[in-house]
Amino acid sequence: MTTIGFIGLGHMGGPMAANLVKAGHQVIGFDLVPASCDQARADGITVAGSAQDSVRDADVVITMLPAGKHVLSVWSSILPVVKPGALVIDCSTIDVDSARRAHGLAGEQERNLLSLDAPVSGGVGGAKGATLTFMAGGAADAFERAEPILSQMGKKVVHCGEAGAGQAAKICNNMILGISMIGVAEAFVLGEKLGLSHQALFDVASTASGQCWSLTTYCPVPGPVPTSPANNGYKPGFAAALMLKDLKLAQEAANSSGATTPLGAEAAQLYALFNNAGHEGDDFSGIINFLRGQRA
Ligand code: NAD
Repeated sequence: MTTIGFIGLGHMGGPMAANLVKAGHQVIGFDLVPASCDQARADGITVAGSAQDSVRDADVVITMLPAGKHVLSVWSSILPVVKPGALVIDCSTIDVDSARRAHGLAGEQERNLLSLDAPVSGGVGGAKGATLTFMAGGAADAFERAEPILSQMGKKVVHCGEAGAGQAAKICNNMILGISMIGVAEAFVLGEKLGLSHQALFDVASTASGQCWSLTTYCPVPGPVPTSPANNGYKPGFAAALMLKDLKLAQEAANSSGATTPLGAEAAQLYALFNNAGHEGDDFSGIINFLRGQRA
């Protein structure tokens, strides 16, 4: 049993912390929202009165927060009071520069703290079912200590490299996802105009060189993949607002690193238009309806 401090008990953090309780750990949690704290108590988490109080006795600390500014603010406040030698893991999706700054803050403490950035993919369903994929960045000893704990919240844990590499892998993967979904959606829209049935295009492309996850798992038209959000009124799934967040993070990273990502930039623009048209809460595959509307 490990004593784990867990800060950020929202849609993802709440069920992740609950899975750590189920695995037999003592979890001391904190969130600013009283309703999240109530749910956490019901799941067996001890709720502390502040972020600092949630980490004082912890050997491992996990944060699951909205964005880089929240992570840097929370880490700045808790690092001075965590136990020497503690392992601090951030599982939020944040920009690579902030992730590296957070590792730097842990290093500055000079108390042998270990730090890891370990964003996830798999969504709320993966958080509830403990089937998340973790992408970790940080030193080898931090990863070795984190892996058994992360494995209790997920099905796959990958060490991607040094500080920030987990966030880098996450935004690169999600940039592929955003671009590929638009590509698949455009192909179905073109196929419709050419009189091609959805099923015929699916049967060909899913076994030919157009094959990809956006087509075979998350098909943006109803029918060919019965479990895809298209069959359920485009309820998420993976909300368009989160796709836009990740595409913007990819563009920030491209700008600061000097990478050329024209399709990533175009995908960010299209998802911004889709979100601004009132579809933030729709599944990101719903962009197909928006693309049809562009010419209607
Ligand atoms: P959420 O908004 O439901 O949860 C974030 C929680 O952090 C909230 O409950 C909020 O009250 C809390 N919080 C904010 N500032 C705080 C502070 N200073 N102290 C304590 N608590 C604080 O968001 P979420 O959906 O759980 O996502 C969390 C992170 O995971 C985000 O970075 C998101 O991009 C990433 N993510 C989300 C999904 C998803 O499907 N929801 C999938 C993969 C990754």
